Amino acid sequence: MLLNVNKLLHTPDAAQDFSFEMDLSDLEFGGSYPVSQPVTVEGRIRNKAGVLLCTLEASTTLHCICDRCAEPFTEDKTVAYQCVLAEERQSDDDEEIVLLEDDQVDLGEVARTAFILEMDTKTLCSPDCKGLCPGCGVNLNHEVCRCRKAVDPRLAKLAQLLEDR
Ligand SMILES: [Zn+2]
Ligand SMILES: [Zn+2]
Repeated sequence: MLLNVNKLLHTPDAAQDFSFEMDLSDLEFGGSYPVSQPVTVEGRIRNKAGVLLCTLEASTTLHCICDRCAEPFTEDKTVAYQCVLAEERQSDDDEEIVLLEDDQVDLGEVARTAFILEMDTKTLCSPDCKGLCPGCGVNLNHEVCRCRKAVDPRLAKLAQLLEDR
């Protein structure tokens, strides 16, 4: 989505809202494609003392596969991003700068990059997911593992004693 900001650039205190949907279903993370639903982008560009400030929010529902237990799950994801739109980079500026080309900015590209940067490298169905038992393969979030008792013979003996009573 290309937007010409020439008018905004030369009108003090001017602002323009924008909103669009983008398709990021081609993005691969850890062997799957979690952004299967369209991403909704809403934002605003405003001229603040001659500087163009762009703020946006991109949100969608991700369809993920847990790295630990391999269960599919959905997760609402919202990414907030802010940058300055400028014709040239200033070396002493520590703000995030997106360069304009012929007074135009590709908002789709800006939102896509912001969204990708915020994707987690690890995908977990919950922060304390117990994962799969390496011995018997049960999902430890739902089932109690039965193979672990056999690992320690002393515990097996104790279990036997308790059963005999
Ligand atoms: Zn999990
Ligand atoms: Zn087990």
